[in-house]
Amino acid sequence: MKVGIAGAGLLGRLLALRLRAAGHEVHVFDPAAHAEARGAAGWTAAGMLSPVAELECADEAVFRMGLRSLELWPQVLAQLPLPVEFDARGSLLVAHRGDESTARGIVDLLLRKAPAGHAPQQLAPAALRELEPAVQGPPHAWLLPCEGRIHTVQAMQALAAGAAGTHWHWDSPVTAVEPGVLRTAGGDLRFDLVFDVRGTGARPQLPVRGVRGEIFWLHAPGVALQRAVRLLHPRHRVYLVPRAGDIVVVGASEIESEDRSPVSLRSTVELLAAAHSVIPELAEARIVHSESNLRPALPDNLPHLEVRDGLVRINGLFRHGWLIAPALVEQALPEHSA
Ligand SMILES: Cc1cc2nc3c(=O)[nH]c(=O)nc-3n(C[C@H](O)[C@H](O)[C@H](O)COP(=O)(O)OP(=O)(O)OC[C@H]3O[C@@H](n4cnc5c(N)ncnc54)[C@H](O)[C@@H]3O)c2cc1C
Repeated sequence: MKVGIAGAGLLGRLLALRLRAAGHEVHVFDPAAHAEARGAAGWTAAGMLSPVAELECADEAVFRMGLRSLELWPQVLAQLPLPVEFDARGSLLVAHRGDESTARGIVDLLLRKAPAGHAPQQLAPAALRELEPAVQGPPHAWLLPCEGRIHTVQAMQALAAGAAGTHWHWDSPVTAVEPGVLRTAGGDLRFDLVFDVRGTGARPQLPVRGVRGEIFWLHAPGVALQRAVRLLHPRHRVYLVPRAGDIVVVGASEIESEDRSPVSLRSTVELLAAAHSVIPELAEARIVHSESNLRPALPDNLPHLEVRDGLVRINGLFRHGWLIAPALVEQALPEHSA
């Protein structure tokens, strides 16, 4: 088949990989200037793969897709020509003394929503010290054993490299997607099957909005963090995600705004103060990068998958795109195309 994909973000790259592996002719269109331009939210994401913790704002379908994707990621990564850091040794929830009631409320919600066998496991301080000695501040901790993390920048690069033979059309926005047709400024382009994975660019065909998120990369040699850690705090959620090269990613604000301007002073103070309160050793870390981007979200904040003759639309991956994308792509691809 001749396949057209509108959007070269996380979903567009995963789809291109799958469809090229199945032998199709694949054309991907994106307004970005080139393959490394950082417009897609996929580049900015911290890469937490958190089916249980995301139950705070998601439903059981997201949880199930998350578990499935945790199985699928190693298979996807094994096909890629470049290494991608991936870890599935679990993640941690932590809380400071004084924030117990906030933490209890969230943990109780997760206990109610998480299917049996996936509940948060409370850790005694000695067990926390053994698992993550760098976490010194908060005395309360829970292990979420089925969670993981992925290096999103490496994965974006490797997915594009793995989809060898794909025709990438940069600087090429798609204004509308209809069955078998991608509409561009240069006219209608016809395909056997088209995918609309434009994220926040899918308006007005989908009522998608962008939810601003800001993150930092800290260079912290000597801080031996293995797992993603989320601080349960009364006002904001803050997480720390270790990456290769002594990097700790600290994120993320969640602001109902489509402002893509640089990180604000308020977010800087709140996120970094919270990160330092979890790992005091971060005091000497260097802030090497900060970034803001928009999470594509639909009004119900749930993912949307629409499969019709000649057209597939996927959107609304919100704050858990890396968690659920492989499972959504698996569901989306008609049997004859993958
Ligand atoms: C700060 C932040 C932290 C995050 N952390 C996590 C995390 O820890 N774990 C997790 O699972 N998820 C996380 N996410 C969410 C995740 O990044 C998104 O859910 C995911 O990237 C959505 O994938 P997508 O392919 O739908 O959209 P995107 O990755 O945004 O890609 C959309 C693509 O469509 C292109 N496009 C736009 N308009 C057009 C047009 N007119 N024509 C053609 N192409 C177009 C864009 O240029 C872009 O390349 C985070 C997001 C942010 C912003």
